[in-house]
Amino acid sequence: MAKWWLTEQQCQVVDKCLQLFGGYGYMREYPIARMFADARIQKIYGGTNEIMKEIIARTL
Ligand SMILES: Cc1cc2nc3c(=O)[nH]c(=O)nc-3n(C[C@H](O)[C@H](O)[C@H](O)COP(=O)(O)OP(=O)(O)OC[C@H]3O[C@@H](n4cnc5c(N)ncnc54)[C@H](O)[C@@H]3O)c2cc1C
Repeated sequence: MAKWWLTEQQCQVVDKCLQLFGGYGYMREYPIARMFADARIQKIYGGTNEIMKEIIARTL
């Protein structure tokens, strides 16, 4: 549950932060662009968040 929730929050927060930078936020020279890419993978590795939802659903 924590993995699903935290990684969803991380992606939402970093997406909003990237938006502040406008187009520069999308360029790899800027740390925010790398933070965005690094955040996105969190929802995939270590078990994708879709699989996390399946596991959570089984406990309900
Ligand atoms: C940078 C990186 C490092 C990694 N390091 C490790 C490591 O150290 N050790 C290790 O063991 N593995 C590691 N992995 C593998 C990682 O755990 C897998 O990529 C991850 O589990 C997702 O599996 P997959 O890539 O085969 O995607 P797939 O399982 O093919 O999933 C593809 C898409 O389909 C969705 N999907 C799949 N099944 C379902 C379902 N039943 N219901 C709904 N949606 C579904 C997924 O959510 C995903 O969006 C790493 C991956 C990356 C990218």
